[in-house]
Amino acid sequence: MNKIAAVLLVFFLFGSCRSSKVDFENGTSRSSKKPINVIFVIGDGMGLTQVTAGMLNNFNKIELEKCTTIGLIKTHAADDLITDSAAGATAFATGKKTYLGAIGVNSDTLSVKNIFDKAKKKDMGTGVVVTSEITHATPAAFFAHEDYRLNYENIAQDFLSSDMDIAIGGGLKYFRDRRDKKNLLPKLEKKGYLIRNWQTEFHKLQVPQDQKLIYFTALDQPKRRSKGRVYLPKATEFAMNFLQERSKSGFMLMVEGSQIDWGGHANNGQYVIDEMLDFNETLKKIFDFAEKDGHTLVVVTADHETGGLAIKRGSELHNLNLKFSSGGHTGTMIPVFAYGPGAEYFGGIYDNTEIFNKIQQALGWKKNKDQ
Ligand code: MG
Ligand code: ZN
Repeated sequence: MNKIAAVLLVFFLFGSCRSSKVDFENGTSRSSKKPINVIFVIGDGMGLTQVTAGMLNNFNKIELEKCTTIGLIKTHAADDLITDSAAGATAFATGKKTYLGAIGVNSDTLSVKNIFDKAKKKDMGTGVVVTSEITHATPAAFFAHEDYRLNYENIAQDFLSSDMDIAIGGGLKYFRDRRDKKNLLPKLEKKGYLIRNWQTEFHKLQVPQDQKLIYFTALDQPKRRSKGRVYLPKATEFAMNFLQERSKSGFMLMVEGSQIDWGGHANNGQYVIDEMLDFNETLKKIFDFAEKDGHTLVVVTADHETGGLAIKRGSELHNLNLKFSSGGHTGTMIPVFAYGPGAEYFGGIYDNTEIFNKIQQALGWKKNKDQ
């Protein structure tokens, strides 16, 4: 009996070793505490009430319940208690508080190195998947350096020097049909990008291993979910696999549910709910990937809340009595949800700029004071 037990034990141990996710192929055995990939997910304008409204419209369940660590961020900008998406995303991407409208620049309008530049130095793949234009403030802060968020053509031009591996979102016109008559697409192709648009389904995309991809989902702004836009979950899944296949040193992907904010600005409760459900479907894809992979840190947060949303008395599941108190952004603290190796860094109450530092701490990168 003892002998059989011993054999079973050896088999069990051997079996569990084989199934562990240590990265033997790359010749490195990483600590299970450090992530290899980071997926940073932003629900633009997604405060706790938006999260709750999505949950209550999904049978009181939300994918974020998988997260093991919850924190809160202080979102104020350098020049205003109420931030915008440009200053908010710049805080995440560069670790600097800056002024409203700033894209990847500090309060003196000087360029600041962003976390994607740092990831590239470590040979990681990088990408963005958004439901706004690629040139819109949130994704722009991860590759551009402009003193004003509405300089979309300049932001598109900045993309050329970003070396990002994959970008999915709207805004083709800022690359092709520009007021300055420059067409950036041939330049992108020269830089190794395959350029595709909404006419090609994701499952039909054939991207050679040595090519990068820019995929446009719209000429300008992508539609809202309720008007037929369904790509975010699929595109996110595509991008995760695309980066995983190509990046031997891991990847950093930013995914944005851009239009939760737009529903808030419009004071349209159903718009917010539809976008939250789309965001939740996307989170399911992300957590499925991260769970299977075992080396992926997922951090979900927002730049700010939009609309001053409240869920009022008289609400029922799937039939909420929503009330907005503002047509703009508000100054409430924003939740941070983290899952996977390194998630433990994201508990507590801290500034939005700390996200930039915490991602690097989780990855085990050395933190320089002058960053
Ligand atoms: Mg945004
Ligand atoms: Zn907004």
